Formats: sequence, C-alpha cells, structure tokens
Amino acid sequence: AELESMKVDLSAFPSCQFFSVDAIVRPWRLPFVVSKLASCGIRGMTTQDVRGVGMQGGLRERYAGTEFSDTDLVSKAKINVVVARTQVELVSRIIAASAYTGEIGDGKIFIHPVADVIRIRTAETGAVAEHMEGGMEDMRASPEDK
Ligand code: ATP
Repeated sequence: AELESMKVDLSAFPSCQFFSVDAIVRPWRLPFVVSKLASCGIRGMTTQDVRGVGMQGGLRERYAGTEFSDTDLVSKAKINVVVARTQVELVSRIIAASAYTGEIGDGKIFIHPVADVIRIRTAETGAVAEHMEGGMEDMRASPEDK
C-alpha cells in the first residue's frame, strides 16, 4: 500500500526529459520484476548480475547459519530501465511492488538523469529514440483509438 503512493522527486533535474531507473533486487525476484514491467509496456530494459553489500541483515537472509563479515558481498540482480520523465514514478512503483518481500535485503532504486537517447539503427535521438512502439506510452494513450 505504501509502495502504491510512493513519490519520486525529480525536481533536482527540472528540465531533464529522460531518467535511468536502476534497481538492485533479489536475484530470484528478477523474473517477476521483468514480467511485471513487460506487462505494463516496458519494452526496453537491461539486467545484470551483480554483487553488493547493504545492511548486514541482507547477508543473513541469504547465508543463514554461515559466518560472514560486513564486507562480504551478496549476489543481486540489477535492472536498468531508461524511461520518459513522466514514467519514472510508475516504473519505480512497479519495480518496488514486485521486488518487495518486507525482509531486509529487498534492494534499492537509484534514479539518474539521462541527457539523451540515440537509437543506433536509425540515428534517431531524443524522445523519438526513447519511445518504443506499442510500449507503455502507447498503451496508456487513448485506448479507444485502437
Ligand atoms: P531497434 O528498433 O533498432 O531494435 P531498440 O530501441 O528497440 O532499437 P535495441 O537495439 O533492441 O533497441 O536495444 C538494444 C539493447 O539496449 C537492449 O537489449 C537493452 O539491453 C537495451 N535497451 C534498449 N532500450 C532500453 C531502455 N529503455 N532502457 C534500458 N535498456 C534498454
């Protein structure tokens, strides 16, 4: 319920059109996060297997019963989604809701400004390059047109 009303503050970058939403989540949650994003029209995303450390409780969750120091790294999944400014909040909420367990180690979301986007195949830039046909924006724009 808190995730549904979660606010994202982009005011530090008032004129930035695009943002990169970078989430670090539990690896076994990644398929769920990806499928949720895809079903909401996110058609472009990149994932990575990473290792990280946060609150030490995160270590406990994966390695219960084993001794680890604060500097041990835990396997995590990173998901990167570049979206239009108006989509950042919704995408962040979708990621948070689908990564959530309530236990320590659920992860974090970092939001970065993106100055421009270039589609290599067509040399398109800006909003045209960021837009994906049949994607979230098209799905939400006047469904009666279809
Ligand atoms: P094209 O129409 O030429 O296929 P495209 O915009 O669909 O262009 P791709 O070339 O299919 O882009 O994308 C290449 C890779 O770029 C993808 O596999 C993905 O890793 C990454 N990618 C594309 N769009 C995004 C995005 N919005 N956010 C994050 N990663 C993306």
